[in-house]
Order: sequence, then structure tokens, then C-alpha cells
Amino acid sequence: MKISELFGENVFTKAVMRERLPREVYQEVVNVEQNGGQISMAAADVVAKAMMEWAVEKGATHYTHWFQPLTGITAEKHDSFLSSPDEQGRVIMKLTGKQLIMGEPDASSFPSGGLRATHYARGYTAWDITSPAFVKEMSCGTILCIPTVFVSYTGEALDNKTPLLRSMQALSHQALRILRLFGDTTAKKVVPSVGAEQEYFIVDREKYLMRRDLIYTGRTLFGAPAPKGQELEDQYFGVIRERVGAFMAELNRELWKMGITATTQHNEVAPAQHECAPIFSTCNVAVDQNQLMMETMKRVATKHGLVCLLHEKPFAGVNGSGKHNNWSIATDTGENLLDPGKTPNDNLQFLLVLSCIIKAVDRHADLLRMSTACAGNDLRLGADEAPPAIISIFLGNQLEDVVEQIVENGTAAGCIAGGQLDTGVSTLPLIDKDATDRNRTSPFAFTGNKFEFRMVGSSDCIANCNTVLNTIVAEAFSEAADILEQSDNLEISANRVIAENLRSHSRVIFNGNGYSAEWVEEAARRGLPNLPSMVSSVPSLTTAKAVDLFTRFGVFTKAELESRSEVMYETYAKVTLIEARTMLHMASKHYIPSVVRYTARLADSICKVRAACPEASVCVQEDLLTRTSKLLTEARDALHRLEQAVAQSNSLDCVREMSNFCHDTVVPAMHALREPIDSLELIVDKAIWPVPTYGDLMFEV
Ligand code: ADP
Ligand code: MG
Repeated sequence: MKISELFGENVFTKAVMRERLPREVYQEVVNVEQNGGQISMAAADVVAKAMMEWAVEKGATHYTHWFQPLTGITAEKHDSFLSSPDEQGRVIMKLTGKQLIMGEPDASSFPSGGLRATHYARGYTAWDITSPAFVKEMSCGTILCIPTVFVSYTGEALDNKTPLLRSMQALSHQALRILRLFGDTTAKKVVPSVGAEQEYFIVDREKYLMRRDLIYTGRTLFGAPAPKGQELEDQYFGVIRERVGAFMAELNRELWKMGITATTQHNEVAPAQHECAPIFSTCNVAVDQNQLMMETMKRVATKHGLVCLLHEKPFAGVNGSGKHNNWSIATDTGENLLDPGKTPNDNLQFLLVLSCIIKAVDRHADLLRMSTACAGNDLRLGADEAPPAIISIFLGNQLEDVVEQIVENGTAAGCIAGGQLDTGVSTLPLIDKDATDRNRTSPFAFTGNKFEFRMVGSSDCIANCNTVLNTIVAEAFSEAADILEQSDNLEISANRVIAENLRSHSRVIFNGNGYSAEWVEEAARRGLPNLPSMVSSVPSLTTAKAVDLFTRFGVFTKAELESRSEVMYETYAKVTLIEARTMLHMASKHYIPSVVRYTARLADSICKVRAACPEASVCVQEDLLTRTSKLLTEARDALHRLEQAVAQSNSLDCVREMSNFCHDTVVPAMHALREPIDSLELIVDKAIWPVPTYGDLMFEV
């Protein structure tokens, strides 16, 4: 089937609605979607019926309110369309407007960070009309999914979606104030657009099932490096292996059916690592679609006898996975506010927008960092493959030069142009060069007409980083608008605001190598925050600065912020303790017994060789036995220390204390256990080694 026929087949699109809904109802839906407001119950009933009929034609038997609780993944509870049988025993299929608009899942078991005691457990889901409904084909049936938000009885957000939508509203409102000043009278709203490049690993399912660490934690907790890693750089953009290719082809089809524009696919740097990127879309739709993409990757991989690992660091020693969050802002009339044009130096509106973003990122670097924090990302940020935990902005030569001119002189007289590139071969085309080269090491890089936020972890929900981005930029816009709306000379005042923003905040601009040790020192000199771990970044959620920001723009209440910080601490502690217990299990049930068997074999060999031929040397066996026994003792000691650390952590009852203890004590104890086991892996007979190795996992797919 052609892509154009397949695409969006399983989405209740506007086109489908136009076809199936009476004109007035369709108009009402579009109007609420674009301008906000409430849909009438009468219209909702009509939409619900049409939606159900459409879904049933696709084979759907159930519907679900599809939402994103603070677990970071999506949640769904399926209800069939059946109504109770009549006296003749016949059933009809039903979906009412009320069922479409709201639901009340028994929600007491989702993380709420203390927002809701279990005995006050009501939570409601409410239809997000701005993200289209779709059907999902799964082995349990075909399910109509209605994207919703999830809030408590008292109206507090219990999900990632509600604050995101609030932040989009705030950004739109403040950006429109700026646009009106520059004479735009037609734009009705401004929306952030997002394109998330998703990295992932693919491993063989049978091998995966032999490793408890992969099963319970999504990453390897032990494993010596394979003889070959990524040093030849032959994996990056390499030819895609057949089995993985078949997976990618089916993944694309499944994503296209759900209206997700999966477009770019390639091998990534580490062996067995890959990437899939869609074409960008409206921020909240991009968030939903990224969740669906991750879920679909897992489902399709299983069908191919594979497993998709979305963890930030499945394997030590090779690159981990991130998710580049490409972000820009555009009007509903199609103007990208981050498009610099050919001569950014005299594009006053662009410079104002840019300077506001720079101000926002510098002022709230701690919040941006926090928005990418998860236990898995602790293992990736600051390693060789990912930006450090320090937020900085890369602008590229052209804009950096413009910024420097403004900082020095108040305005910029000219700008560096792109020019043409000649390869020196007469038959090859001349290439129009961009005005700026790329920088791969920056966490927040300007890439032509958007910013690319590269710190986000591969498994993370991108709602969080976009909520922060939208809100901090809304704040900077509002401050600029407050001044400019009072001015009678826009040009002079705008230039003044731009210069002031840049002078106060250009310390966050850094065009050099973000992976280098010198940058860490330089950043410290500049006073930029460096929050190396998840636990160190959580306090930024509840500072006076953050509370002021988020409450002012109606994105989070103070109670919501506090609850989220609780959830973050709690999640970190839980994830770490699951990992620690998995290590204890693997060490005591798999590794140590195997190594003991190996030592017995060596001892046996020594005795037998000696008996058979007293002159023969047994020094190899003796040497192996000595080294193995020494490492075995080290492993046993480390195991005991980790056991003690886990027990001690369970005696702490404040989640903050507990997660700090996990970070400071449990994680080092985990490292200490891993070391001797990894050394043993390099000594012990492969036939005895109880689990597939890094080489098996990464190179045999
Ligand atoms: P890279 O060179 O960073 O790997 P890719 O082409 O893989 O680039 O991904 C770039 C991503 O940025 C795509 O998802 C693309 O749709 C998205 N993108 C492009 N323009 C915009 C924009 N204006 N706003 C948001 N995202 C955008
Ligand atoms: Mg990228």
C-alpha cells in the first residue's frame, strides 16, 4: 500500500470528522480546538457516536481515555462499547458525549507526590480536543484511544499533559503581545512546534530474556566491554542490518497508520543503536506521538523476536541514548518566530525573540536541567557522548557575531553571510553554505530556525522539558512586552531591551567543545549552575524563583511543584533500589555460583594433572584459581556491603533523604560490586558464564 493511503488511516482526523459530522458540529469542534472554550454536550454526543462508529469499522471493541500520569509513560484502562443487554438479550454499542469528555479512573495507585491521600483518591480524565483520537491495534484488541489530561478532585494536575497545555497557553498569550507590537494583527495564536529525534537500542529477545538486569531495569548492570566497541565509527549511518531493517519497515508502517510522520531512520554511533525522527508538529501532539512512538517500537520489536531498549545507558562504555527535542515557535499563520532571515542583524523582531530566549535559558538553566533529570540520564549526561549537565547555548558564528556587536555597540551593523562551497571538482554542484557550522556538543543549539535541546533522555516524556521551555520564554516575552507596550518608539526601545537582555545573559552562550573538562571549569567561573545528578537538580523545582515563575503563568501551583519534587525523589530511589536488588539477585544466584563451579573445575584439573603427571606444570590453573578466588572474595564482600546499604535505605522514611542516600551510598556500592564481577567475566570460561555478554548482545542481532 502507498504511504499516502496508509498515512493517518487509524486517526480520527479533521478530514474524517468533516465527512462524518454534521457541519455545525464539525465547526464547533474546530472552533473549540482552535480558540478554546467548552464543547456543548449535544455536540459531544454526536462526536462520540461518530467516533465510535468509525472506530468499530476499524475493528475496535473498546475505548480508553489515554493519559500520561507521572510515571512518565502512558496509561489506559479499556472499556468496551457494550451496553447492558435488553430483555431480548441484544446489546448495542455505545459511546456517549459524557464518556468522551470525561472519565474517572480509579486513580489511587498513580504517583501523586502527596497531592492525594489514598482515601481521597478521585481523579478525572478530560478530553484533550487538540490532540486527535486514534485506534491502536494490539493483541488484546483494537482500541479507540482518546487523548486526555488527568487531574485530581481538587483540580491539581496529576499528569504531564495538563501543565504542558497550560504552558502553551501562556507562551501563546505573551508571544502575541510581542507580535502585536510589531504590527501583526492577524495571528490568533502562537504555538511551539516540536520534533523529537528518538534514539534506541535493539537486541535479540532470547538473549534479553537471559538477563535479569535488562528485564527488570532496562539496562545492563554488569558486563565487561566487548573487544570491539564503537571506536571504528563503522556503525554510525552504516548499512542497516536485515533483521533491524525489517523491524524499521514495520515500525514505520505502524507509525504512519497512527498519523506519526516517522521520516528519518539510521544507525547511531554505538553498536546496535539506532534513531527514528518524525517531522515536527504542534508541541502537545508531538508529546503524544513520541509516547506512542516509544510504545510502538517496543511492540513491533517483540514481533520480530527483538527487544527495543529505550534506557539512556543500556551498556557502559559505549554511547547512551538521548532524545533531541527540536523546538521553535510559530504563529497559526505559519510564521516561524525563530527564522532569522538572511540578515538577522536588522531583523528586530527576531533579535528580540532570540534575546528573550537567551535570557530565559540563562535565568532558568537549573529548571531546564531539572526537566531532563531521570535516573538513567545521570549515567549519560557528562559522559563522552552527551552534553554535560551544564546548560549553555550554541548560536553559531553568524549569530554569535551579531550578539557580540550588540553587546558592544547596542546594535549590529552587519552579519557574516553563508557563501558558497566549492569542492574543487568541476562536475560537482556548488553548495550554498549555511551561515553557521553545527556544534554537536552543545546542550541547547540553534540550528537554523529552531533550537535543539539535546539533554533529554531517550526514555523520558518530552512534556516536561517543553513545559519548562514554554514557560520560561513566556516570562521573558512578558517582561519585554511590559516595557515595549509603554514605549512610543518601538525601534529604540526594542534595541534597548535586546541589548540589555544580551548584556546580562550572554554568559550562557558557549560555542566551544561542551564535552571538554576545561568547559566545566570555565562554566564555574561564569557562575553557570552545574547539577550533575538527578537528586541535585530536584530542589530547583521548588525555589522561590520557580514558584514565582510557574504560579504567575498558571502552569503549576506551589502544591503541584512540591508534589512533583516528591515524585522525582521517590522515583529516583525506587529505580535505584530496583537496580540494587537486581544486582544482588544476579550476583548471588547467577555469577557467584557459576564462578564457584569454575573454581571447582580448576581445582579438579590441578589435582588430576598432578596425579597423572607430577612433572607437568599446573601453574596456569593455579594462577587462574588464585585470581578467580581473590575476585570472588571481593565480590562477596561487595555484595554484603550493597545488601547493608539497601537495608539501611529502607529504614529512611523521607523520600528526599532516601534518594540522596541512594545516590551517595547505594550507587557507589553497586559500582563496587560490578567491578570484580566484570573482571571475572574476562577470566571465566565462556561456557560457564551464566548470561550473554556485551559482545553477544550488541553484535549478534
Ligand atoms: P539532526 O541533524 O539534528 O539529526 P534531524 O533531521 O534528524 O536532524 O532532525 C531534526 C528534527 O527537527 C526533525 O524532527 C525535524 O522535523 C525537526 N524540526 C525541523 N524544523 C523544526 C521547527 N521549526 N520546529 C521544531 N522542530 C523542527
Ligand atoms: Mg539532532
